[in-house]
Amino acid sequence: MNAIIETKQLTHIYSAGTPFERGALLEVDFSAMEGEYLGIIGHTGSGKSTLIQHLNALLKPTSGQVLFQGQDVWADPARTRQTRFQVGLVFQYPEYQLFEETVYKDISFGPKNMGLDEKEVDRRVREAAAFVGLRDDQLEKSPFELSGGQKRRVAIAGVIAMEPKVLILDEPTAGLDPVGVESILGNIRDYHRAHNATVILVSHSMEEVARTVDRLVVVNDGKIPFQGTPRQV
Ligand code: ATP
Ligand code: MG
Repeated sequence: MNAIIETKQLTHIYSAGTPFERGALLEVDFSAMEGEYLGIIGHTGSGKSTLIQHLNALLKPTSGQVLFQGQDVWADPARTRQTRFQVGLVFQYPEYQLFEETVYKDISFGPKNMGLDEKEVDRRVREAAAFVGLRDDQLEKSPFELSGGQKRRVAIAGVIAMEPKVLILDEPTAGLDPVGVESILGNIRDYHRAHNATVILVSHSMEEVARTVDRLVVVNDGKIPFQGTPRQV
């Protein structure tokens, strides 16, 4: 199997050169394979969100590299843009991804930005909405009228509508009841199967993620001290 996305000696220091300097990742070598179903776990503040923002080319490395399909994501602006479309990231706080006046517009934002025609955008919005169990009548609502679980579904749909090769979800089950957890994990698994996509689930709680993934990567204090099958971890 080939790595679809990887980091090489990736270091990230926030506020470098100021009194608030904080090393969040230290020479991290991480990789995810094509079609893999992967979990990233670690305590709060360990560096999980920092790592996955690098995979989506949202943060620039202090040193080291991020490679998508073997090429440096910062090689040139076209490469960076392509990475952001093909590596979909659902943020830890779904509100970050909701800013339009209707759910429909929020979900269509990504595919529109990719330059797809209106018909294809519409097809993708409806397919993605159905995927996460949003009803047609919910598409014309304001995203801010929805419950926390529904907001999360909208954020996931917006990323799925871009049909990313790598789908990363930061704490996708946070704040949901057990029924909601099962339902969202089922949706994610369905996307993985339907698109043969690489999926990366990020969580600080071992239990939920470990149940479903093929491999677990442990992040601790900006490093990866251990990885293996859920049983090994
Ligand atoms: P959580 O489980 O709480 O989401 P995490 O594993 O995702 O934690 P990160 O958000 O990656 O952790 O944070 C890693 C370290 O970097 C922490 O010490 C955090 O305080 C620091 N950090 C994160 N974001 C910033 C930022 N924007 N500016 C400065 N420091 C930051
Ligand atoms: Mg985090």
